[in-house]
Amino acid sequence: MVGVGVTPLAKLQAAVREFQAREERVDTKGLRQVIDVLEGEFATEVRESQKAGEHLSGGHITAASWISQTCGMSVPSAFDRVCVGKQLESMPMVAGALSRGEIGYQAASVICHLRDKLGEKAAGLDEEQWIGFARQHSIKDLNWIADHMRYSLDPDGFERDSEENYEERFLHISQMNGMYHLSGVMDPEAGAALKAAVDALAKRLGQDDSRTPKQRRIDALSEIVHKALDEGKLPERNGARPHVNVNTTLEALKGELGAAASELEPGMPISSKTVQRLACDGTLSRVLKADSVVVDVGRATRAISPPMHRALKAHHRGCGWPGCDRPINWTTPHHLEFWSRGGPTNLRNLLPLCYYHHRLVHEGGWQVLRVGEEVRFIPPDRVIARRVRDPGMRWAA
Ligand SMILES: [Zn+2]
Ligand SMILES: [Zn+2]
Repeated sequence: MVGVGVTPLAKLQAAVREFQAREERVDTKGLRQVIDVLEGEFATEVRESQKAGEHLSGGHITAASWISQTCGMSVPSAFDRVCVGKQLESMPMVAGALSRGEIGYQAASVICHLRDKLGEKAAGLDEEQWIGFARQHSIKDLNWIADHMRYSLDPDGFERDSEENYEERFLHISQMNGMYHLSGVMDPEAGAALKAAVDALAKRLGQDDSRTPKQRRIDALSEIVHKALDEGKLPERNGARPHVNVNTTLEALKGELGAAASELEPGMPISSKTVQRLACDGTLSRVLKADSVVVDVGRATRAISPPMHRALKAHHRGCGWPGCDRPINWTTPHHLEFWSRGGPTNLRNLLPLCYYHHRLVHEGGWQVLRVGEEVRFIPPDRVIARRVRDPGMRWAA
């Protein structure tokens, strides 16, 4: 028996404690319904306190910030409850369906936010139709329907929102723990273009491609960036085409023990294997010696001449790796005998490789050897360690 003076909330709290003492499992859907009904009650109470100006006496300009602080909720969550509470006042059928547990709180929230955005165009919103949608569709689909209805009922408002969303676009590129971290937001058209381009390049390249889908996507983005740089059509900055700078030494380029680490532009150390790859395909344009005297080993000394490029194209339709379908324009010439170990830039020593496979040879431990007329690809676990002796090594010249 409940005593006189016990509030409805105290009764509910007592019922919850009793429920918590249960021993049997309960139906999760039924439990969710009860929580959703209570969320609706919460939204209604929040609206009542807003109308009473309780947030103002608490020193808050908005009800959402007051609810956020007093109830320990994020501001967006508190704002959602205030919006739902307000809109339910004008939608008795939706409010009734929520209070009876016929539709969930999240579905009611989608309908309420739609009505809020429609403003004076809200008369076009049919409550009965939306209760039907809420019963049939997932929250994701319901949001989709709401976006489209918003567009058809209020195209000007939709356009305004799109422009506001457009202002949210950004890209952060930050350096952390020896890697670059990206985060960003794109407008729908640019995002769709990026996705289409990345998807086109993110397929598996041959049977040995063990990369995960997310690794293939970021590699695809890297390829697009490298191709843009390699084509040399990007606008100049400070009188030079954009490029990647590497500070290295001849010792590091040879991979000698004890050599100082090579660095990318912002002082980011990179492995000697990576430097050798960059040197191999002509990306490296200058080498700094240990005493900081610049030894120019620029592209002129080993850039592939146009006739040799044509011959390379005639020999290979694309990446030379078995099973890889990357076309020739998406490859760089790899020196079978590494350029950094004195390998010559002639047709016999060159094999076009795509970005991924070129990395697999230099950093991934695969070995690619010419045996007679045949090129052999040997995986890392079968490569026999051999010391590279380099008495007659030639350096760029
Ligand atoms: Zn190479
Ligand atoms: Zn390839």
